[in-house]
Amino acid sequence: MNELKSLTIVVPVYNEEEVILTSAEIIYQKLMLLIKQNKISQNSEVVFVNDGSKDTTWELVSTLSQRNKQLQGINLSRNFGHQNALLAGLTSVVVTSDFIITIDADLQDDVNLIDQMVDEALAGNEIVYGVRNNRDSDTWFKKHTAETFYRLMAKMGVNIVPNHADYRLMSQRAVQELLKYQETNLFLRGVIPLLGFKTTKVYYTRQERSAGVSKYPLPKMLKFAWDGITSFSVAPIRIILLLGIITVISALLVFSYSLIEHLLGNTTSGWPSLIISIWLIGGIQLISISVIGEYIGKIFNEVKHRPRFTIQENTLEQ
Ligand code: UDP
Ligand code: MG
Repeated sequence: MNELKSLTIVVPVYNEEEVILTSAEIIYQKLMLLIKQNKISQNSEVVFVNDGSKDTTWELVSTLSQRNKQLQGINLSRNFGHQNALLAGLTSVVVTSDFIITIDADLQDDVNLIDQMVDEALAGNEIVYGVRNNRDSDTWFKKHTAETFYRLMAKMGVNIVPNHADYRLMSQRAVQELLKYQETNLFLRGVIPLLGFKTTKVYYTRQERSAGVSKYPLPKMLKFAWDGITSFSVAPIRIILLLGIITVISALLVFSYSLIEHLLGNTTSGWPSLIISIWLIGGIQLISISVIGEYIGKIFNEVKHRPRFTIQENTLEQ
């Protein structure tokens, strides 16, 4: 028989003291079951990445790790954001794990899907996406903004898996390849499909958050979407070019119209057209400058090449 593969489940946590014990228990039970069923090896584990929580989350994680060596924790030195917390987890466990699953701490993602993910991985898939069947557990607003976001991204030629958040399984090889993408603002959902490899999807229904509140309030969500778009596509700059061309053509049309009117001897008062054109062009210029500024800002952040996260302590080495 082949040697069993090891699985690590990476769970980013930010101010999750209300849910962490329950989810640790549930995820751990799932891991034990898979080990018992001989699907994965004994040295599989759950690793919590504490993303600079201000509550007792890290204390809870370290207590768990003292009691059980299959529950481990990584403590980041401050809040680096969900994506960077995931990267910190992936970077820390990639050497020792054959498969890595990332899942949120709030149990919104169906833990039972892990069985299917592991089956698909054992069948040779290197990336297995957890995809939501529906968005019934979301507010009307979140559902519609998310839909628009996915549609917009697809239009701009960015290939992301709709209704897939960061619940997925990746093989060691896929994670190693992912970590070669060195951009500071890494948009995982956009980059992972670029890796290629044999890939599949498994479907589940997303639950309500089991406790606590979303750590993605609206401003953070919008920032995430905007970062996703501008770090993946230059389409906004092209749209500006189009806007510019349309404005110039309209201006020429208005110019021809007034010239004809003038030649016909009709005098028109000039101020409305003057104000409209000044405001129109001024507005377009401002938008253009800010979009270009956004990209320059992105370049500015990328050239600094700062580390994406800093690990303060780590129970993994013990
Ligand atoms: N999270 C994180 N750092 C952050 C924000 C969130 O590590 O700055 C974690 C959070 O603890 C959770 C996951 O990322 O495990 C997803 O966050 P949340 O459930 O609040 O997002 P939502 O499901 O509402 O989009
Ligand atoms: Mg959630």
